[in-house]
Amino acid sequence: MSYVGPDFEPPRPPRHPLRGPLTVAVAALVPGALVGWLVWQAVGDSDDGDGSAAARTSASAGASASASASASAPSSELPGPSEDGKEQSGGGDESGASAPAGSGPLKGKVVVIDPGHNPGNFRHPSDINRKVNIGTNWKECDTTGTSTNAGYTEAEFTLDVSHRLRAILKKEGATVKFTQDGDRAWGPCVDERAEIGNKAGADAVVSIHADGSAAGNRGFHVILPGSVHSGAADTRPIVASSRALGERIAGGFLRTTGGPPSNYIGDGTGLDVRKDLGGLNLSTVPKVFIECGNMRDTKDSAQLTSGTWRQKAAEGISEGIVSFLRG
Ligand SMILES: [Zn+2]
Repeated sequence: MSYVGPDFEPPRPPRHPLRGPLTVAVAALVPGALVGWLVWQAVGDSDDGDGSAAARTSASAGASASASASASAPSSELPGPSEDGKEQSGGGDESGASAPAGSGPLKGKVVVIDPGHNPGNFRHPSDINRKVNIGTNWKECDTTGTSTNAGYTEAEFTLDVSHRLRAILKKEGATVKFTQDGDRAWGPCVDERAEIGNKAGADAVVSIHADGSAAGNRGFHVILPGSVHSGAADTRPIVASSRALGERIAGGFLRTTGGPPSNYIGDGTGLDVRKDLGGLNLSTVPKVFIECGNMRDTKDSAQLTSGTWRQKAAEGISEGIVSFLRG
């Protein structure tokens, strides 16, 4: 959900020119899809932006999480970009964490899925507004997340996609754990969400979200951890691996859903880098967030509310994880 705004890493090394990452991922994984997307983009997507999109982008450029939601977000959305979280018990799929690994290509691999927010967060404002230490600073424990204009919540969306993703990954043989499965009243807090992945010794962690930006802002983007070394946060060991994971997920997502990559964050790469998310800052294992689309945009919300589309989204994310874990 909410964004603080583009948070590109400073000058990127030559090997990662701005449009490079996704291009590379796409070239490697889904050349056909990119061509399709380009055609689609040319034909159909240039008209829906409006002033508010720009406003939102600039508004969200602030440093903290709060500003972003203002333009488009309804009162229901807590200001602020905290998005990660951690912990919890319920994780797991029905067969959950205890399910034996299968015999597929991911046998022996542990994947932690972090469904963003929690359907119960709305009812526990004081709990989720409590500040937790994310290494670089203190931030809200968790946020409510956003919703479509019709009221389909981000928390509901993230759990649905996560369930679909879990089913796919388990078939691939992975051991899958959740940070929350709608089985706790609220949270977990972002620091706990990170800790769950760390304690699980996860080979990959993906936090599922959908954004709450202005109408006209469309498309998905994957958020990668920036290099942070402050307090309990030290992402230096996972920056490269997380980028590799994120590029694969972006490529897979683009292939299965047809895109498009975000038109308001990431300069068309479908990738963003942030240093203000506790769930990334405190991770010691490869981890990324994916914002699957903008719930406040009519075209994006039509996709996000479609079970068929969410299945494609889960397949794309899975494809990226499998590609990453198989090297
Ligand atoms: Zn979110």
